[in-house]
Parts: sequence; C-alpha cells; structure tokens
Amino acid sequence: MSGNITFTMIKPTAISKGYTGKIIDQVIRGGFRIKAMKYTRLSKKEAQRFYAVHKERPFYESLTTFMSSGPIVAAILEKQNAVQAYRDYIGATNPEEAEEGTIRKLYGTSIEANAVHGSDSDENALVESGFFFSERERY
Ligand code: GDP
Repeated sequence: MSGNITFTMIKPTAISKGYTGKIIDQVIRGGFRIKAMKYTRLSKKEAQRFYAVHKERPFYESLTTFMSSGPIVAAILEKQNAVQAYRDYIGATNPEEAEEGTIRKLYGTSIEANAVHGSDSDENALVESGFFFSERERY
C-alpha cells in the first residue's frame, strides 16, 4: 500500500526569483495538505548528507553546491498516494520536458534548478521528512 506523505523543497533559484508564494499556492490547489513547513538553509555538508543517495552521480558536487547556495522552503505534504501524485503534479526532472502548467515547467530554470524537490519513494519521504522535522513540528 502506498503512503500518504511526501517531502518537498522549494529550491534556491525559485526562492530568489520570487516564486515561493506562487509555488505554495499551486501545491495547495493540487490538494496537498501542508503537514509541516519551514524556511531554512542547508550547509554544504547537510546538502551532501541529504543527497547521499546521489553520491556517485556526476552532478552530485554541483547539485549540493547549488542546494546550499541560498535559503529553501522545506515541507511535508499529505495526500493519498502522495509520492507519485506529487511527482506527477510537479512534472519531469528537466523543466524543458515537463508538461505545460506544472510547477517545474512554470518555475524551473534548468535541470538542476528545477524549482522543487519531490521524494521518489515512501521510504525516502520518511527519511527526508525526518531530516528536517521533529514529530512535534508536524500538524
Ligand atoms: P528528481 O527525482 O526528479 O528530482 O530527479 P533525480 O533524483 O534524478 O535528481 C535529483 C536532482 O538532481 C534533480 O531534481 C536535479 O536538481 C538534479 N539533477 C538531475 N539530473 C541532473 C543533471 O543531469 N545535471 C544536473 N546538474 N543536475 C541534475
């Protein structure tokens, strides 16, 4: 059975371009309930830890530098079948290939600065949520 939470971040470029409010609004309009949210910034070491699963990928160094380059918004979202529903909703990893009207198509700048993160499995949704939020920060 699939779980009902996923984890997301609004990435630094989307924040600096002023898209934060529009993205949060689109997330809510998609039927995702905000269970936890914070405005914060990752150190380079924290970004490396968060993306440890991608350690062997050629873009790991660039991605972790980018993700620690400015503030982000981190959030836990709740919906039925949340992980897949959110991945469908935000669009393809590369904004150029994302469907019209999706968050990544509208607010993504490049394959790296693609506006938002979305967990890729229920297991990772739990790990990623735990990275940022204690139980008492979830409502
Ligand atoms: P996602 O699950 O759609 O976010 O995609 P992946 O798990 O494959 O990659 C994680 C993140 O790494 C993406 O959201 C991008 O920010 C970044 N990324 C993925 N592919 C590339 C790439 O080819 N080059 C660079 N620079 N970054 C990438």
